[in-house]
Amino acid sequence: MTNTIQGLKPKLLKVKLSDFLEHLKLPDEALNFILKAKEVAEKQGRFLYLAGGEVRDFLLKRPSYDVDLVIEGSATDFLEELKRKFIFEVLFSSLFLTYKILLPQTGFEVDLVTARGEVYEDVAALPKVYQATFKEDVLRRDFTINALIYGLSPPYPEMIVDLVSGISDLERSLLRPLHLRSFVDDPTRVFRGIRYKVRFELNYAEEFYQALSQAIEAQAFLKLSASRLRSELLLFVKREGISSLPRLLSECQSFDLFSHSGLGVDGEKLVEGIETLKEFVEILSPRELEDAFLLILAGFKRENLKRLFFADSIIDRLVKLYEEFRTNLQSVLTLPLIGRVLKFDKIDKATLIALSLYLPELRKEIKRYLFVYSKVYPELKGGDLKELGIEPGKQIGEILKKLREEKLEGRLKTKDEEIAFVKSLLYSAS
Ligand code: ATP
Repeated sequence: MTNTIQGLKPKLLKVKLSDFLEHLKLPDEALNFILKAKEVAEKQGRFLYLAGGEVRDFLLKRPSYDVDLVIEGSATDFLEELKRKFIFEVLFSSLFLTYKILLPQTGFEVDLVTARGEVYEDVAALPKVYQATFKEDVLRRDFTINALIYGLSPPYPEMIVDLVSGISDLERSLLRPLHLRSFVDDPTRVFRGIRYKVRFELNYAEEFYQALSQAIEAQAFLKLSASRLRSELLLFVKREGISSLPRLLSECQSFDLFSHSGLGVDGEKLVEGIETLKEFVEILSPRELEDAFLLILAGFKRENLKRLFFADSIIDRLVKLYEEFRTNLQSVLTLPLIGRVLKFDKIDKATLIALSLYLPELRKEIKRYLFVYSKVYPELKGGDLKELGIEPGKQIGEILKKLREEKLEGRLKTKDEEIAFVKSLLYSAS
């Protein structure tokens, strides 16, 4: 293997540094950091380059906001020298020879990694990594279009270096893994590939299908850890956004990836689930949207929830809640409004949205709750009630509940009406 790697002849494309840096939409602090890093690499006689998405996006003329710097040889020595010339903080480093760097003025984060090779000892297990040449670093990557690098220092200063026909694959819109065992080693690459396919409207190269068959054969998706499966699926929402979800999920379905991954997912429900997410997206924080997406995938099934790395205590709570609602649907629907609202108050938005999908009888009520009722509260607070002469204690809670009920039913509109209502309660009690 090493001999063939040594023998690889790179295709080189000259690109002026200023042109390359211009396409990275970076704050000046980050640009200056790159320039200083280049200076240090030149002084130490080491190859420094940008890798991955930035080079691909440059060729596609698409903006890129990440900085993934790679240095051949030890990153520790390199960072020590760089520290003398530039102010930054190393936020953390990992076993994978990677460093997360914080630039203090702008808060911008840069990834710096040591050029590395990887050995996969088990199907779908995390690899053992070792310091390596840039060629090995290129060949450990997921797809040819992501294996392009841009040299900042000799031997390839100001050049895009292509060892794997990534440029021609980009031109032909082809998504090609670097070798046929690629997805056996790391099945998350298939989910990554689906994201690139949808994002850049690519076609799968023949090798993609072959590598996928090998991964399915080796049960690589089943062997993928729950936490990695969860993080990878979350990137559908985090990186690609909800508008791409229908295509992403239908790609997964076309390869039966969910069942290969040990997830029992009903295709029709999934399509409905995306529509449901869209309906609620405006009232969800990014975190709530992610949670709702996972719950929709899982569908309150214990095994699915486990596969998506939910903690046991949360799984118990979710399954119990679903069963409670399912078996008591009629009584929930016939509760007085305040009773239903108080019940829903105890449940987070993501769970309510998933319930509205899997118990469609509740959909209208949950929608009304999330868009309207959950925001209806009396203007009077506990402190105001004390000022009206109510002793601190249980009574305050009871009156607040009554006030909320009156507001929900539309019988109280203004603060003055609330005060009058409280006084009438006190009067009738005395
Ligand atoms: P994006 O635009 O989605 O950020 P990216 O290509 O920059 O795309 P990252 O997840 O930031 O994606 O990864 C950076 C680079 O690291 C990739 O371009 C690829 O070369 C490599 N890489 C990331 N994950 C893997 C993986 N699982 N297997 C092999 N190489 C990977």
